Amino acid sequence: MDKPVAALRKLPSVDEVLRSDALAGSVAQFGRTSAVAAVRAVLAEARKRGGAGDVAAFAREAAAQLEAEAQPNLKPVFNLTGTVLHTNLGRALIAESAIEAAIIAMRNAVALEFDLGGGRRGERDELVRDLLCELTGAEDATIVNNNAAAVLLVLNTFAKGKDAIVSRGELIEIGGAFRMPDIMSRAGAKLREIGTTNRTHKKDYVGALSDKSGLILKVHTSNYRIEGFTKEVGARELAALAHEHKVPLVNDLGSGTLVDLTRFGLKHEPTVAEAVAEGADLVTFSGDKLLGGPQTGFIVGRKALIEKLNKNPMKRALRVDKIRLAMIEATLRLYRDPDRLAEKLPTYRLLARPLKDMHEVARRVVPVLQDRLGAVFKVTTVPCAGQVGSGALPVETLPSLAVSISLEGRGGGRRLTALSNTLRKLPVPVVGRIEKDALLFDLRCLENVDGFLANLATLKAPEAG
Ligand SMILES: *Cc1c(COP(=O)(O)O)cnc(C)c1O
Repeated sequence: MDKPVAALRKLPSVDEVLRSDALAGSVAQFGRTSAVAAVRAVLAEARKRGGAGDVAAFAREAAAQLEAEAQPNLKPVFNLTGTVLHTNLGRALIAESAIEAAIIAMRNAVALEFDLGGGRRGERDELVRDLLCELTGAEDATIVNNNAAAVLLVLNTFAKGKDAIVSRGELIEIGGAFRMPDIMSRAGAKLREIGTTNRTHKKDYVGALSDKSGLILKVHTSNYRIEGFTKEVGARELAALAHEHKVPLVNDLGSGTLVDLTRFGLKHEPTVAEAVAEGADLVTFSGDKLLGGPQTGFIVGRKALIEKLNKNPMKRALRVDKIRLAMIEATLRLYRDPDRLAEKLPTYRLLARPLKDMHEVARRVVPVLQDRLGAVFKVTTVPCAGQVGSGALPVETLPSLAVSISLEGRGGGRRLTALSNTLRKLPVPVVGRIEKDALLFDLRCLENVDGFLANLATLKAPEAG
């Protein structure tokens, strides 16, 4: 009974701790309000424990708490997962020219919706419309928050209260609750699914077309492939059919690349220009997948249809801000010089990165990791298979090189998991993957090797048991 009371008496006042030398730097750095709150929290915690302590110890504790609170919640990480466009790690890295453009747009008033020639109100989409038309061959273009929004806006504009005809083989789920049937119902469109999972014929489309049809939707099955006994109706044939029945053909390309990927040693993915040339009236695609820009949804196609999209009040709720527009414009400009894309656009720089680069990185990283982890862990390099990510080229793999960390003997699995957790708690978290009995760090996306090695300075291998 006596003991906690005695301890309580020993707790210093908030003011005493605040005035202590050990906290002076933190008060100056984080401000008095935060410092008072931290000291109160530390003292309240001590009171609960019934513990005592001296002023300097409480001050140090409060300083540590302030420091921890000041860490941003959105942290940079080393993406060593082998997936270049990792949705959970933020997809595409932005090109330097786009970053500069974003900074200028953030710091300044900009002519966002202002026609500098006539001094009148302008349209924000005008800023990138010509570039998009040039790069895709489309008549017109508009942009929204992301590709999910693009699909939603198209469905709501042309199929509200009408049928949206789509093959059962293309009723995709992208992840993060983007399911085509759900988007349809939210858009007010009636899903008219036709054909079967593996085979859909022209006669299925013909049978579904009626005066209730709003549009035909073709969806690029971006994150899976149906192989074997399959049949789909090509875009050209579908376009002819749609036009015969006076409904638009919409092609949701998903990733939608603007260049032929074979340039970078990858397999061909349908380009936006190809989809336009095949006769789609509208094509939708993402900004932060293979295009390598910020999160955006692009819709390109016929002028009369784009005008209708722009008049839908939903467009206002889905529009992008000046910062993103600045980034989009700068990113699209890079495509005017496709020969230097791999140099200027991080997405293609990483996708096209030669294996010898990864070997070079491994040569520097392996000995340091081995040294920090000690001889119980075996650090080697192994060939591995990475991927593009974000649903592009889902069955293609990128031949890559990984640092592999493994352990001999029993209980190795638990220690590897522990090590993986430890690495995710470093100042710059390192994210890899556990495959079979090894922790793998794919080196394709490791460019800042000095930063990576410096980050390992505080790494301690987890103990056994
Ligand atoms: C990724 C994808 C979407 C969603 O795009 P976001 O930009 O992530 O909103 C829609 N359709 C397809 C086919 C996709 O691959």
